[in-house]
Amino acid sequence: MAYSAEVVRRARQRLAMAKEDRESENRDHLARAYAQVPRIREIDMELRRTMAQAARAAFDQGSDGRDMLAQVRDRNLSLQRERAQLAAEYFEEGFLDETPICEKCGGSGYIGSSMCECLEELCRQEQKKEVSILSGSRDTFSQFRLDYYSDVPDPKLGASPRAIMERNFQTARRYGLTFHQNSGNLLFVGNTGLGKTFLSACIARAVTDRGFSVAYESAGHLFSKLEQARFNSNEETRAEAAKLTACDLLILDDLGTEMPGQFVTASLYSLLNDRILAGKPMVVSTNLNIDELSRRYSPQIASRLHGSFTRLTFVGEDIRVMKNRGANV
Ligand SMILES: [Zn+2]
Repeated sequence: MAYSAEVVRRARQRLAMAKEDRESENRDHLARAYAQVPRIREIDMELRRTMAQAARAAFDQGSDGRDMLAQVRDRNLSLQRERAQLAAEYFEEGFLDETPICEKCGGSGYIGSSMCECLEELCRQEQKKEVSILSGSRDTFSQFRLDYYSDVPDPKLGASPRAIMERNFQTARRYGLTFHQNSGNLLFVGNTGLGKTFLSACIARAVTDRGFSVAYESAGHLFSKLEQARFNSNEETRAEAAKLTACDLLILDDLGTEMPGQFVTASLYSLLNDRILAGKPMVVSTNLNIDELSRRYSPQIASRLHGSFTRLTFVGEDIRVMKNRGANV
């Protein structure tokens, strides 16, 4: 799973705080135990002494050394038993166990070079927060209303808008619910108000819920982020831009509504190219058809969007207009 550096940073910060809390709780328990049952402190001091003796005895290879080691070991075990009895007598279970925040990694978040599941879980949580902030939406596939689309067959389309939109809906839903690293790219084409943004947001939610990292951006926002990283470069703007290339799924909404310009065309081309070459999925929505994309950006960009994406054409009447009219749908 490719979490952004920022998500991992926040997750590690939370883990470090939880670890610190647990350690201070453990220290606090010990201090209370020492105050209440002074014998426990004596035992701990003696245990430390027997450890040191054992280390010295281990160096002595002779029979004296072996005897000594056996004695020390017996003493050590009897002290530990006494300590456990006192703990059981005076405190609730586990009070003096000094359990780490995570048994697997001890709270470091890593086992060797791989991420422990405790940190992985925190990354997932941070990632979810991120997407709900970005898309600001709780849209789910079950809220999609096909009855907004006419079921009267349209000869130009060869089917009713509803039948076409039902196919689009099923494709988008399947994409979101079964998303994986090789899911490929979707291109939503159609006029404003036909549900492109809604279905994009549903996909963002579903993919995030599956534990993948998602960047969801409107075109205007995306290009201004790239521009900041280019012309006002600092750690934060660079990290934001890097996320657009590195995330598992990039959703680019409303392509064609941003201010046009050479910078936009150049950065769109390299973003598309980088992600296509890396095999990283994208969902792009636009109200421009292929010819318009070619004129507005470049034939190369139009050809990328044409050749590497599965295109879904959104049809029907503007849903927002219909809702405002109070249409009985
Ligand atoms: Zn762990």
